[in-house]
Amino acid sequence: MPPAHPFDDDKLKEECGVFGVVGVADAANFVALGLHALQHRGQEAGGIVSHHPTEGFNSVRRFGYVRDNFTRQSLMETLPGPLAIGHVRYSTAGSKGAAIRDVQPFFGEFAMGGAAIAHNGNITNAIALRRELIERGSIFQSSSDSECIIHLMARSLQRNIPERMEDALRRVEGAFSIVAMTRTKLIGVRDPLGVRPLVLGKIGDGWALSSETCALDIIGAELVREIEPGEMVVITADDGVQSHFPFRKQSPKFCIFEHVYFSRPDSIIGGRSVYETRRQIGVELAREAPVEADLVCPVPDSGTPAAIGFAHESGIPYGMGIIRNQYMGRTFIEPTEQIRNMGVRLKLNVNRALIRGKRVVLVDDSVVRGTTSRKIKQMILDAGAAEVHFRIASPPTAWPCFYGVDTPQREKLLAATMSEEEMREHLAVDSLKFISLDGLYRAAGEASGRNNSCPQYCDACFSGEYPVAPSDMIAKGFQLKAAE
Ligand code: SF4
Repeated sequence: MPPAHPFDDDKLKEECGVFGVVGVADAANFVALGLHALQHRGQEAGGIVSHHPTEGFNSVRRFGYVRDNFTRQSLMETLPGPLAIGHVRYSTAGSKGAAIRDVQPFFGEFAMGGAAIAHNGNITNAIALRRELIERGSIFQSSSDSECIIHLMARSLQRNIPERMEDALRRVEGAFSIVAMTRTKLIGVRDPLGVRPLVLGKIGDGWALSSETCALDIIGAELVREIEPGEMVVITADDGVQSHFPFRKQSPKFCIFEHVYFSRPDSIIGGRSVYETRRQIGVELAREAPVEADLVCPVPDSGTPAAIGFAHESGIPYGMGIIRNQYMGRTFIEPTEQIRNMGVRLKLNVNRALIRGKRVVLVDDSVVRGTTSRKIKQMILDAGAAEVHFRIASPPTAWPCFYGVDTPQREKLLAATMSEEEMREHLAVDSLKFISLDGLYRAAGEASGRNNSCPQYCDACFSGEYPVAPSDMIAKGFQLKAAE
């Protein structure tokens, strides 16, 4: 599968996707399909755990794409049963380029039976928890923050697994959307702020949990609703969905970057089409940062809906000025230095006939380090563009994310050290404008924009206002934004 963005190394990366099914024959096959639809959330590795009433728990964890691993019949036959969960990962708190021991779902054997968990998000006090657990005798198998949850569950005195999980998660800070399973139960939990997504679907007599609705579509499941922030659902084939709220209630802080970039455009978030939100971001951008130009081009694919909105609102014609090679998969071998140096041209090409002599507005979803923006600008100029104007569908990314998204260190983020005008000079473009935070909130359906006293979303990577203090990072010397 080609990366979600052709310049993946200059983009923030979502860390994980989770999926689970109960109450259908050969649940693992549905999970494999669901994970395939969530592949954009993590391409490094994936795993599935299933349970069969007589054959017990089975697990397969592999590096690589879902389609390369979980499509072989012989492998899928090793994952029988009506209950299964799965996980795709990039890599986050675990080591980068990690070992198979870091690939989820993780499994724990407790006195009352086994349990497997798959976690999307990041535990911001994992280092402190791990130290404490190791001092008290826990033996960790992986370098992943998520394994803390299994060890906390093992130490809990509660009588059943869902209660042990609640106990464990009350000690955990940060972001978690979890899909877990016992021998008979599918469990879904979202952290009290609901930072990462999780939705509930119905498939025949069974149920599904998924990071995004696009993965429900692929298995023919119907969206029932989102799991609410702070909610735990315990689902069995016989009794259906039992819901409760084990955590102290807090005002939700869903990740606004899911709207901008991470989620697939065919997913629904908060009842809104992600595609429509992105298109609306383009509309807001055109109102906030108009420019005289001849052509609006997306940086494919993630800039496309915003470029469509920009073109519509501004009246400037829309065109595919950059064409992406759809077949640039990870299997492409770059055999020589000369070919490796071709870099972006392996992945994107400029539509010269369209660009030549035009004043071009390039719409992209974000600027992280800025390295790729410079290359794209140069390609457009080399193709004979008269002017290049960048319009960016997110505010300047000036702070790292500690809630399950891989971000460069703060000093590597262009916007952390430069003003907008300095970034424009650095990128050497005719103009550079980012959507405002208020404009982004309006596009996401908040008609009055951002509520600065209690923001409706997490937007810490733009604002520096972290809804959960990243305590491990603060202990390592990370400086929070000074109070204004
Ligand atoms: S810091 Fe940014 S990427 Fe991370 S959860 Fe918040 S909005 Fe999302």
